Amino acid sequence: MKREDNLSEKSIQYVKGVGEQRAKLFRSLGVETVLDMLYFFPRDYEDRSRIVSIAQCREGETVCIRARAEVNPREQRIRKNFSMFRCAVSDATGMLPVLIFNQKYMAAKLERGQEYLFYGKITRSGREKQMTVTEIESSNQESKLCGRIVPKYHLVSGLTGKICMSIIRNCLSITEGQLEDVFSPEFRERYQLCEINFALEQIHFPKDAHSLALAKRRLAFEELFLLSTGLRMLRGNRQNVTVTPFLNTDCISEFTATLPYELTEAQQRVVREILTDLKQPRVMNRLVQGDVGSGKTAVAACAVFIAAKSGFQSVMMAPTEILARQHYASFQQFFAPFPEITCVLLTGKMKKKEKTAALEAARNGVSLIIGTHAVLSEELQISNLGLVITDEQHRFGVRQRAALAHGQETNMLVMTATPIPRTLALTLYGDLDLSVIDQLPPGRQVIKTYGVGEHMHDRTYNFLKKELDRGRQAYIICPLVDPSDVLEAEAVTEYAEKLQNRELANYHVGLLHGKLKEKDQIMEQFSTGELQVLISTTVVEVGVNVPNATVMIVENAERFGLSQLHQLRGRVGRGSFQSYCILICRSNSEIAHQRMEIMSKTNDGFVLAQKDMELRGIGEFFGTRQHGVPELKVANLFTDSGLIQSASNASSLVLSKDPDLSQKEHFYLKERIRRFFSYESKELVFN
Ligand code: ADP
Ligand code: MG
Repeated sequence: MKREDNLSEKSIQYVKGVGEQRAKLFRSLGVETVLDMLYFFPRDYEDRSRIVSIAQCREGETVCIRARAEVNPREQRIRKNFSMFRCAVSDATGMLPVLIFNQKYMAAKLERGQEYLFYGKITRSGREKQMTVTEIESSNQESKLCGRIVPKYHLVSGLTGKICMSIIRNCLSITEGQLEDVFSPEFRERYQLCEINFALEQIHFPKDAHSLALAKRRLAFEELFLLSTGLRMLRGNRQNVTVTPFLNTDCISEFTATLPYELTEAQQRVVREILTDLKQPRVMNRLVQGDVGSGKTAVAACAVFIAAKSGFQSVMMAPTEILARQHYASFQQFFAPFPEITCVLLTGKMKKKEKTAALEAARNGVSLIIGTHAVLSEELQISNLGLVITDEQHRFGVRQRAALAHGQETNMLVMTATPIPRTLALTLYGDLDLSVIDQLPPGRQVIKTYGVGEHMHDRTYNFLKKELDRGRQAYIICPLVDPSDVLEAEAVTEYAEKLQNRELANYHVGLLHGKLKEKDQIMEQFSTGELQVLISTTVVEVGVNVPNATVMIVENAERFGLSQLHQLRGRVGRGSFQSYCILICRSNSEIAHQRMEIMSKTNDGFVLAQKDMELRGIGEFFGTRQHGVPELKVANLFTDSGLIQSASNASSLVLSKDPDLSQKEHFYLKERIRRFFSYESKELVFN
């Protein structure tokens, strides 16, 4: 029986025990329908399943006992608005006084001679053991709160765990174990998954630890499968697309010989992996992961060089105007010894005349077009496209990536500075092969990082001045005060003026923020050393390269995620000088301190990314709005690697047989994927 249709639509408001007020509260938690309610999973559990005898209770333990009330409870008033009920209870092994604080209604349940389950903490009073009770249940009804594993929910005020549990029980009784399963019985058997109705009941009200584990596994698999399948569908399955192979891959040494340094072993390995792909008639889909400063640009240049030598044009897309211009400058330098390899820049901010010239060059076979989102424009026609590189992938939405690939089956190289774990990469980029640049160029120093409080401002500025006097340069990153650009611009402007008039009066200080028109000019002045200090919002976060900069000061560091701080820190330590990162923290919270501590202890982007995701979840980590990646509730991307692998394989198998899930048996699956994604980003389109 298919009851799903009605149930997923059925508003939670009309479920027994909800009503208008509570429906509103649940809505604020993202729960609209009966199905949402069932997928509103506990954030944690309290294991109250261990029932012990009174003789076995140990002081300090929190346990359950099954015992009879020997007397009716007696109230002892301790002070105004604070009372305690006391009752002696017994089982076959002994007597125990139980104490109930303030909960008159709970005490009122107890009747002399009746048996109950008591859950609470064993304490000692003098030589006597006693129990401070948190829950009491009659022993002859089905236990809900004692003697079992009890769910805990993340709720808002106005809702309690008990209310939530009772509503979920009502939802379960409406569905009557008849919810449709996205997975067929054969599928479940193959991947060893329990059935959905069982899973949903057990995730809320586990019979025991084993059933809970089964439920979690099933639901985690489901999430990973929906995620993986949805992402693949968004991108289109490009794995078996054929393209013209690049024939001239052997001449790479001609290019590397002109570099002012030798490629690191890791860079060489990744270049080899890329060239091996490009030689094949199969399209390349490769993700290159490399920590900040690992030298991804040179690797990209190798690929562009080989494309050009094989007669193909390349496109490189950067997330910001500044970065596109910087890449443009780097590539012109890379290819200076090779006049036949030509580059143009194409950005949205360019003048019409320049743009027209760039588009013209693209049509006429220029080797490389570097730009921002402007390269996605339909105006850009490339006669012989062979390679598309996107830099700093995490800044782009899935959708844009799809758009870029759309209609242009070509080799794709995606470069990211956010070192995400292999397991996560597999889920998010299931169809990408992965290369890792796991080595920094030689001679890089560890950036000394200090987390300091506000009272250290003077010392920080003094230190900064010393470095400037030695000829070095510095960045100061200003807090993101408000998400609106205007206010942010004002805040950073005010801050800069203050510094310019006081502490840094004798230095050349520049200001950079998103609203500014002369961004490139200022960046240029900082690059050439004309400006000594760059006060900026996070627009410099990604990829900017000024090797003479040795100090990075971050104001209100507590507002940034670890990975973002790591990116910012990566702007210094790019030359041979010892570099410093000073994180000024205005929060005294435990978490803020913990984060500053992690930052000062490790320079490893991988470790930081992992910690960051643990602290914030993947949606936050990527900036869900930009990325369109739904939050996972059960699956853990760090510990469930086996499950991720198997969900990813399953997804690939299903799509290989039914690429757009148009078969009847996949109707419901497709619907669920749509829901799973639309929860976060309404604009994604599945066809
Ligand atoms: P990212 O991976 O963060 O994009 P970049 O490509 O900007 O890093 O490189 C960072 C710096 O390292 C640049 O100044 C670049 O010239 C330098 N670099 C890259 N590869 C090497 C190498 N093999 N040896 C020495 N320096 C290198
Ligand atoms: Mg880079």
